[in-house]
Amino acid sequence: MWGSQTTPAGTVISVAPTRYPAESLYHELLHADLKVKGYRQHATLVRVTDDSYVPALTNALDNELQHHRMYPAFVAAGFDPEDFYHDGDEATFATIRNELKRLKPATTHAARYFLSYLSIIAPGGRGNEEKRAQLDRFFRMKVPTEKLRLVEEAADKVCAWGVASDGDPGPLIVEIIAGLGDFGGWWLGASQNFPADGHFTGAPFTLGDAQRFASR
Ligand SMILES: [Zn+2]
Repeated sequence: MWGSQTTPAGTVISVAPTRYPAESLYHELLHADLKVKGYRQHATLVRVTDDSYVPALTNALDNELQHHRMYPAFVAAGFDPEDFYHDGDEATFATIRNELKRLKPATTHAARYFLSYLSIIAPGGRGNEEKRAQLDRFFRMKVPTEKLRLVEEAADKVCAWGVASDGDPGPLIVEIIAGLGDFGGWWLGASQNFPADGHFTGAPFTLGDAQRFASR
């Protein structure tokens, strides 16, 4: 699996066998370029609550917000938009369709639907625009109206961020998470510097609160 890690010491890129080495390398270089230019990843999570969708949402938003911002440069470099992701991308739309068939509309959280929808609105990839439109229609058939409204609001924010220029996605990530449901009790940090260098998803808490929660 391709991937990259960028720290002040430099960037390390993991490679894997692929039919598209140039595209895959350029994809990772664009991730690195964003971070060098000020994009801040929020990878340190502190919590005073039980498991929720917050880690999955934070992780997926971190990745997809970068992709929305990177995509124009990938296309401008002359690569085929279909080759923006690694080889495994072929199956993505079919996987989402199967998920949508399986999820129970009455009990599935809007956040769960949003995680699927992030892949439908992800720029480029093997699913062409016609397949994307078909899957989008299927999504709208399957998701209850009120949950669909929350998903659309969150998706609009992701797409708007893609064409903006701010380097710190932290405030937007917590805003999107709060819009999807009652997900208080987490702190998303861009470093270990708690609480200055991060954002709470709801009411603030102390490290003592988090330690008491962890040792319950
Ligand atoms: Zn990527």
